[in-house]
Amino acid sequence: MNDCIFCKIVRGELPCYKIYEDNETLAFLDRNPVNPGHTLLIPKKHSETILDTNDETLKKLITTTKKISKAIFESMKLEGFNIGINQFKIAGQVVPHLHIHIMPRHKNDGIKLWPSREYESEKEKNNVQKKITRLLK
Ligand code: 5GP
Ligand code: ZN
Repeated sequence: MNDCIFCKIVRGELPCYKIYEDNETLAFLDRNPVNPGHTLLIPKKHSETILDTNDETLKKLITTTKKISKAIFESMKLEGFNIGINQFKIAGQVVPHLHIHIMPRHKNDGIKLWPSREYESEKEKNNVQKKITRLLK
């Protein structure tokens, strides 16, 4: 993808602070970290979300996420970390090239997770379960 900033990073046309690279994936420091060490892991081949990414690449991404997370966890002396993928604009995806956030966490770092709510009824819960599982049979 010509205009994609993460494809440009893969091609070396834009700089990055590289953390890790193999044939299929590249990891680099997020330029605006939630905490130091916040890393983005991307597939080198352009895709937008997990939905248009092939399964082999996804498997590679999750095992590489583990490898990089372990290095960040130990080197940055973390107490925890979040892994996140924003999927599509409405969910906060700003860069339309699949990327996994590995976000270091520290006690009292002030970062809040997403808010949660109750289902309105058992009926609503049942309907939602039915809707989703219908497509998984
Ligand atoms: P999203 O909101 O799409 O899940 O996250 C995009 C992330 O990419 C943001 O955390 C942002 O700071 C990071 N980012 C955007 N442009 C660049 C860039 O050119 N270089 C680096 N290193 N990070 C970027
Ligand atoms: Zn791209």
